[in-house]
Amino acid sequence: MDNCIFCKIAGGEIPAATLYEDENFRVILDLGPASKGHALILPKAHAANIYEISDELAAKAMILAKKMARVMTDALHCDGFNIVQNNGECAGQTVFHFHMHLIPRYNGDSVGI
Ligand code: 5GP
Ligand code: ZN
Repeated sequence: MDNCIFCKIAGGEIPAATLYEDENFRVILDLGPASKGHALILPKAHAANIYEISDELAAKAMILAKKMARVMTDALHCDGFNIVQNNGECAGQTVFHFHMHLIPRYNGDSVGI
């Protein structure tokens, strides 16, 4: 989709710190991290939100989130983990290309989600 920043990042047109990439997804570090290691799963195909993404990609995104949570927890030694996905402005969505937040949590941190 034209003028979608996450389409451009997911497709490699705009560089981002990439933790993982396959044919369907790119996982990047969030530019304004809520905690150390905060990352985003971006599908390469544009879907604005959970209502638009296909069942197949939604299932793959959740499986990837599960794998990333395992790997990131082992690498970062975090104490917990949030997986967050916002839909609509009132729900906190600011970029209208489906994404899942991977937020490592640390004992005593003060992340407000
Ligand atoms: P939302 O509020 O839509 O759920 O999440 C959007 C997230 O994307 C925010 O956490 C914000 O910091 C992040 N973000 C916005 N623009 C960029 C960007 O250009 N690059 C990266 N890496 N993250 C971005
Ligand atoms: Zn997009």
